[in-house]
Amino acid sequence: MLTGKVALVTGAGRGIGREIALTLAKNGAAVIVNYNGSKASADEVVAEIEANGGSAEAIQCNVSDFAASEEFVKQVLAKYKKVDILVNNAGVTRDNLIMRMSEEDYDAVLDTNLKGAFNMIRHFSRSFIKQRSGKIINISSVSGVLGNAGQANYSASKAGLIGLTKSVAREFASRGINVNAVAPGFIDTDMTRNMTEDARKELNSMIPMGKMGSTKNIADLVLFLAGENSDYITGQVICVDGGMCI
Ligand code: NAP
Repeated sequence: MLTGKVALVTGAGRGIGREIALTLAKNGAAVIVNYNGSKASADEVVAEIEANGGSAEAIQCNVSDFAASEEFVKQVLAKYKKVDILVNNAGVTRDNLIMRMSEEDYDAVLDTNLKGAFNMIRHFSRSFIKQRSGKIINISSVSGVLGNAGQANYSASKAGLIGLTKSVAREFASRGINVNAVAPGFIDTDMTRNMTEDARKELNSMIPMGKMGSTKNIADLVLFLAGENSDYITGQVICVDGGMCI
């Protein structure tokens, strides 16, 4: 159980982040539900947690903004005094072939997916080091492990997140802070929902298990990495992908 723990999940109003927030709360953590634009959805997540007897609060922050992230972290620490579990989940896609990819689309994806995680870890680092414990979980992707045609920006950001994870894991290992990455395969969320039936079939044929994963598949691993059963695991990238990375 995570009773007495404070968890922060970025991009927790929708999709995988929402499921992670609900799961951590169900297991006793007080959860800060970060969102950028989706206030109504984030408020719904908080209401659902509270209706189940848990504790949560929705707080807006664009994690790609260094200064705004610093203010957000200050606000969280002033109220909660600590964060035990930080889940860097916020992410976007702007897919295109490299020949046609704009500078804006490259920068937007790197700024949210990679710099966003850097901003959070950077601003929470003093607090984590002071408390000499903590769990940092970065949501990467199989695209960062395998690469993916049409996703050079996204794959670069998710591969970068793996480098960030391993380096910070080495920096923090002696302080009792675990830093790991989760690499989901294809998970049924808004991010993957716009596909045609044919594209979906073709995709399923590339997955050894023959089907997409659920948000629960990801949240269950995050719960394990957030709890004491994973205390001796750090710097790892764990794929939850129906066998894509075999
Ligand atoms: P999603 O349904 O599109 O949700 C994305 C979330 O990220 C939203 O809650 C969004 O919040 C938040 N976000 C985006 N930009 C943000 C910013 N600048 N600051 C704060 N929050 C921001 O995506 P998902 O499928 O749940 O994906 C969640 C994570 O899993 C992402 O990192 C994604 O790359 C990764 N992933 C997903 C899949 C998949 O198949 N779905 C596979 C591999 C990895 P707002 O709505 O408030 O803007």
